[in-house]
Amino acid sequence: MADARTPQQAAAEQPSAASARPASPLPSAQPPLEARPPELSTPREVAGGVPAVLSSLQHAWHEMGPLRGTQLLLKVNQKHGFDCPGCAWPDPDAERSVAEFCENGAKAVAEEGTTARVTPDFFRQWSVEALSRQSDLWLGKQGRLTHPMVLREGATHYEPLSWDEAFALVASELNALGSADQACFYTSGRTSNEAAFLYQLFARQFGTNNLPDCSDLCHESSGTALGEVLGFGKGTVKLEDFEKAEAIFVIGQNPGTNHPRMLTSLQAAARRGCKIVSINPLPEAGLNRFKHPQELPELLGPGTALNRLWLQVRINGDVALLKGLGKALLELESSRPGQVVARDFIRERTTGFEAYVEGLRATSWDEVVEHSGVPREQLREAAELLADSERTIFCWAMGLTQHRNAVANIQEIANLALLRGGIGKPGAGLCPVRGHSNVQGDRTMGIVEKPAPAFLDALERELGFKPPREPGLDTVATIHAMHEGRVKVLFALGGNFLSATPDTERTAEALRRTRLTAHVSTKLNRSHLVHGRRALILPCLGRTERDVQAHGPQFVTVENSMGVVHTSRGAVPPASEHLLSEPDLVSRLARAVLGSRSQVDWKGLVEDYDRIRELIARTIPGFTDFNRRVREPGGFYLPNGPREGRFLTSDGKARFTVHPLPRVELGPGQLLMMTIRSHDQYNTTLYGLDDRYRGIHNGRRVVLMHPEDIRALGLSEGQPVDLTSHFQGETRVARHFRVVPYRIPRRCAATYFPETNVLVPLDDFAEKSRTPASKSVVISVAPSSEPVPPEAGR
Ligand code: SF4
Repeated sequence: MADARTPQQAAAEQPSAASARPASPLPSAQPPLEARPPELSTPREVAGGVPAVLSSLQHAWHEMGPLRGTQLLLKVNQKHGFDCPGCAWPDPDAERSVAEFCENGAKAVAEEGTTARVTPDFFRQWSVEALSRQSDLWLGKQGRLTHPMVLREGATHYEPLSWDEAFALVASELNALGSADQACFYTSGRTSNEAAFLYQLFARQFGTNNLPDCSDLCHESSGTALGEVLGFGKGTVKLEDFEKAEAIFVIGQNPGTNHPRMLTSLQAAARRGCKIVSINPLPEAGLNRFKHPQELPELLGPGTALNRLWLQVRINGDVALLKGLGKALLELESSRPGQVVARDFIRERTTGFEAYVEGLRATSWDEVVEHSGVPREQLREAAELLADSERTIFCWAMGLTQHRNAVANIQEIANLALLRGGIGKPGAGLCPVRGHSNVQGDRTMGIVEKPAPAFLDALERELGFKPPREPGLDTVATIHAMHEGRVKVLFALGGNFLSATPDTERTAEALRRTRLTAHVSTKLNRSHLVHGRRALILPCLGRTERDVQAHGPQFVTVENSMGVVHTSRGAVPPASEHLLSEPDLVSRLARAVLGSRSQVDWKGLVEDYDRIRELIARTIPGFTDFNRRVREPGGFYLPNGPREGRFLTSDGKARFTVHPLPRVELGPGQLLMMTIRSHDQYNTTLYGLDDRYRGIHNGRRVVLMHPEDIRALGLSEGQPVDLTSHFQGETRVARHFRVVPYRIPRRCAATYFPETNVLVPLDDFAEKSRTPASKSVVISVAPSSEPVPPEAGR
């Protein structure tokens, strides 16, 4: 609910930790400290069940009321409803249940469907600096933004302005730039296909390929890795393949929190005897046992065991582990010749196998065990399971994609799949599990800084303009460019740029050096508070809301993690009459900025979104007859070469690759830290302060450490500590975290994102994909150098 207190009252009641920081006139880029330690309980062994049902209802009803809450939940992920604004896990192709959502989907819907509102009056009361001293949770809980708002140069408060004024302001800033490349156009993965297509078209007509997006921060490593070895940067399985798989490997992924409906597929697989192997540094309840919230007998019983085997890999020990599995498979092949290595498939369909085998032989078992932290016997057990499975699916998420060697991680998975001949047949293949609901679709629509020449050719042919051919900036490069003054305007279509990106203080400084930051948003977030010389908040419709344009009600489309394109239709009236849909907003932006320079009928395109889809069909492969096919219940699958047995590399063959063992040097007392998400969180959006499955409640500034490391460093449970990251002689500090003993490998640590993004160096990113290495941060942990201010907030 919106906070009725004045900033002065709030400051008196819940002053923030900013009072303990050196006096600074700048709004804080980081959330406030926490005075009290979190409460700890025993981590859960079972995911789902009654607590998930209660949590879903509590969030939905509290934010939206029982009537509206129920109305919206019954529409989420239905064939004629709206797409969940949470993750990109697919919906069943055939029948769907009446409640086709998970606990986190319910939270995501509640967050957007809330009845709380942030009005111009709110902004009159709260200065930007006062808002910045509130927590991220508090900011989000104030409700939906209702009006376009501007922060004028030197002003302390946002004030309302009309849409026309807002677009005129953006136009004046953009058109005053010396070059179009001095602007960047960021996209969040919630953006629909229609909005994304228009947005990239606008940016390219404006003259730049500077189209960074949130994929740069998560699965870019998957796209890069698969593009190199398969010629196709997406996964190769369908949801129905989970019904046929004999083994499923889940690597560097926590589906219980980040893609909870995946547990339904895993449960069904486990029940019919499919063997599930999880590879993860932390024991996650969602991979251990699951109680389906919609099955009454399950709710009362112990639930379904999922994991056949859990390999507790060290952080960034995955290349070693996957090489170990490869070595063990080769050993099994010598005792069962012709039964383990898919010789015909390898000979006819792949290249590089000999070098791969050579690479495995050159890596000793001692190295494999030391780097992975997993005993050889366990690796052998997992390899036997893999050898016995004719149909294996390999799933992964950001546990693999956010390391310097992330591309190698994923290509080592591809090596195993190829070794078993397991790509392009039912029940088998590769499954990068994407995060935000349309992050994959946005890339398909051309949100990319290095567009394929064929796509630019199609734009030129169909739209009669010359798109820029020079590569643009990705997210890391955008931050550098803002910092160096080369980019002066950041326009963000959704997202929370400051909190999603690494190196928080450096990114904040970069944003402050711009002339304009403009954010299209549904709710208040920290990126509105750390801004350029001028700043705009441009409020838009959410997924849950009806979108009516000149030709009547409209729907948008999205692409899920498995390449299904389908519709999303809002179900309730907009939170405010002043909101614009994202396609409409981009269209007006283009008209204001480009004027007569563009021959595109921007106005006509948004009168009826079918017209946008016609353009998509003419310019993007796989979308032929888009308007008809997307109206089929459940939508349609995009073409997928590898799934259909065709590798799209230059020689038509999949490639084995060879990678060295990654070396992360830890100095005395140093730990390797990964950032993780809590159960009350989706990306940068916080729904609460609990991480129920991990037994951490009412607090987020924690560092999960092995009990022996805690002892060795002379620390104790609950002690306030400062974390210092070390990278190329630079240090970064995050203050006042509490020590939490946890079942994590020695010399490893885990902390929540975005609180510890401040520790992630901007220049430490994956080779080739440039995804920040947020899961390989070298840190030291020391008792807090200053006492925790007793008045710090939560
Ligand atoms: S699994 Fe993902 S898409 Fe499905 S309901 Fe949950 S959060 Fe939404």
